[in-house]
Amino acid sequence: MDNTTSELAASIRSIPDYPKPGIIFRDITTLLGNPRAFRRAVDELVQPYAGTKIDKIAGMEARGFILGGAVAHQLSSGFVPIRKKGKLPHDTVRIAYSLEYGVDEMEMHRDAVQPGEKVILVDDLIATGGTAVGATKLLRQMGAEVVGACFVIDLPDLGGRRKLEELGVVVHTLVE
Ligand code: AMP
Repeated sequence: MDNTTSELAASIRSIPDYPKPGIIFRDITTLLGNPRAFRRAVDELVQPYAGTKIDKIAGMEARGFILGGAVAHQLSSGFVPIRKKGKLPHDTVRIAYSLEYGVDEMEMHRDAVQPGEKVILVDDLIATGGTAVGATKLLRQMGAEVVGACFVIDLPDLGGRRKLEELGVVVHTLVE
């Protein structure tokens, strides 16, 4: 691990058995509350896209909004919230996606992306990949080009990164 990776890893709090027994919850509120770690994380997330024109950052509710907003600002891109169903006020498109146990639905505004726009997905963590795969399909359905996805944390044993890469999305993560 280099210095940045170990500093970021040390700034993330692990909470055993949350939200249920057997899950280790990776809590990034401690990273967000640490000015140096927050800046480093955002600097590292945007690094592969520096100098590339990215039209929109799509952030997944809810921690993807915080990181994605900062990434969008840094890349001078727009921001698209991808939300749990029933939260967005205007005309939406919706897709079902798989969770570790069960399914849910996510939505975005129908006019949030235009055909051909280059979009990067942002979230705090990729686990099984269900959320990011759902978001990729939703964006592609609306004609956007998903040119990449970035996450602070990858849980490699759960295989999400591979699923996203199989869809042709280039994945960038900071800490395993
Ligand atoms: P998945 O769809 O399985 O890749 O799960 C990713 C989504 O669930 C992200 O929005 C994460 O914030 C959240 N998530 C899944 N597992 C964890 C975990 N162990 N710690 C914190 N967040 C998690």
